[in-house]
Amino acid sequence: MSSPSFLSTSALAKNLEDHWRGYRVSGDFAFFVEFTVSLNSLTEYLKQRHMPGLMRLAEELEHIALALFGDVTQHPLTTDPAGDIERKLAHLLGELRRHKETPAPSRRQSDLPGGDARTRSRGVLIVAADDHPGLETMRGQLSFFGFLPTVTSWAEPTAGTQAPLAILCLPGQSGVWPEASVAIIAALRARFPASHIYCLEVPVELENIVRLQRAGVDTCIPITSGYADILPLLLDLVRDTEPEADRVLIVEDSQVATAFARRSLAQHGIESLSIADPRRLLDAAAKYHPDAILMDMHMPFCSGVEATAALRQVADYQALPVIYLSGETDIAQQVEALRLGGDQFLTKPFNPVVLAAVVKTKIARYREMRQSGQHDGLTRLLNHTTAKMRLAQHIADTPPGGQLVVAMLDIDHFKRVNDTYGHPAGDQVIRDLAWLLRGRLRSSDLIGRYGGEEFIIGLPDTDLASARVQLDRIREDFAVLPHAHNGEGGVIYASFSCGLAALSDFPALPELIAAADTALLQAKRAGRNRVMVASTASIPGM
Ligand code: GH3
Ligand code: MG
Ligand code: MG
Ligand code: MG
Repeated sequence: MSSPSFLSTSALAKNLEDHWRGYRVSGDFAFFVEFTVSLNSLTEYLKQRHMPGLMRLAEELEHIALALFGDVTQHPLTTDPAGDIERKLAHLLGELRRHKETPAPSRRQSDLPGGDARTRSRGVLIVAADDHPGLETMRGQLSFFGFLPTVTSWAEPTAGTQAPLAILCLPGQSGVWPEASVAIIAALRARFPASHIYCLEVPVELENIVRLQRAGVDTCIPITSGYADILPLLLDLVRDTEPEADRVLIVEDSQVATAFARRSLAQHGIESLSIADPRRLLDAAAKYHPDAILMDMHMPFCSGVEATAALRQVADYQALPVIYLSGETDIAQQVEALRLGGDQFLTKPFNPVVLAAVVKTKIARYREMRQSGQHDGLTRLLNHTTAKMRLAQHIADTPPGGQLVVAMLDIDHFKRVNDTYGHPAGDQVIRDLAWLLRGRLRSSDLIGRYGGEEFIIGLPDTDLASARVQLDRIREDFAVLPHAHNGEGGVIYASFSCGLAALSDFPALPELIAAADTALLQAKRAGRNRVMVASTASIPGM
């Protein structure tokens, strides 16, 4: 079975409808389980796809179904609860069908060779007072990064008919969210269930945040954040990388329990591999690279607790989530098992929806943790070490004759930016370049922050000539990008220099990076704000 992330919304909607119809016709509880499971998959899918409004509708229905889950004697359901589910389901299915993923690539995206084809709308609706001081800067920045901002006022909000990717709400008066505004937000939420709603300048007070959440706001951005913080969030929304499939290793000697667990996971698009003998654990983990382990407590040779303790001896698996499956209800033993390095206990027979939810949550946390260790805090690009490791891996995987170009970028006279406008303004210039690179390069390209104001890029399947054209375009655009800053002294502009080198000329990573660096130095010497290509002749001994 394929992961739900590879299915379309309409396939998931059809699944859901079929299971419900099956249940209504047969009255069979098994269909109700399938219906609940497919609702849960749909909720997950909508969450991954950043469609919070639709997600909320699916989640609401899922909660109703789960509440009817525990007691089999309630099934088949009587007219009342069934009618309620039917109405909510019809509404959800209607909204799913209404939401079409319209292709709206911006000019800048589409004219790039190899630029990503965007599948989501790039419209951004800004609700703000006309004289809001941050409005013009925000509008300018959004347009520059390929979004299509439209501004409407709180007094007479007009929202058009096309669902925007995102709705940005700026309070009329700094930090104050009157009831009337909250009501307008709730109306927008109902009208555009698939759009992501952000509120800016939200005071960090529980009461405020809860009010806005209830109205349907997805993200509250605190009053202390700058407008520039919204941009990376929007770029994340349009970056359509397929989420990796979740992989679970099941260590369980009972065939029945294994089959049940595998089926429950598969229904949620989670891949799994099972082993019955814990002595194969380390080998299987090394080959399968699981994102989580489901561990039986009682097995031949050793207990699940012992197997987990052995797993934790290997540095790579110290943080890998382990979820115990057990027939035990012995609390003392469960506490002991958790203390010895498990993350969670599930008592057999487990509820399939709970199993999948626990697995997904553990995997998501684990991934987040791994991510934050591999990414740079300021730009969220790969950090120095990870970028180099990934490039080395990429070179190892490149077949003979395969193409790869490495680019080294360095912002010109960056010290002056810091000296003239201050360090925070310098930080903003670094982030703007990071976002521009993310917005313009393909998702298969590798982008890392190599050092302070230096970046490293890996362009697979690209030759030097097209890499040069592409980076030159980005360079030209960067030079005219006005950088937002709060201080005095007008608008900031900056430029960068770039050196390129091809794997075909420099077949090992250290030489490839050194060559791109040398070309970068030449670009600096030749007057900056230019792209230069490393020639084999410029490297001694080549
Ligand atoms: P060149 O055109 O030759 O590259 O000149 P430059 O001024 O950019 O080069 P230099 O290497 O002398 O200066 C880089 C400066 O970048 C020095 C350092 O203080 C600053 N810097 C490094 N990391 C950061 C950062 O994260 N934020 C800010 N604001 N500045 C940084
Ligand atoms: Mg067992
Ligand atoms: Mg530098
Ligand atoms: Mg520099």
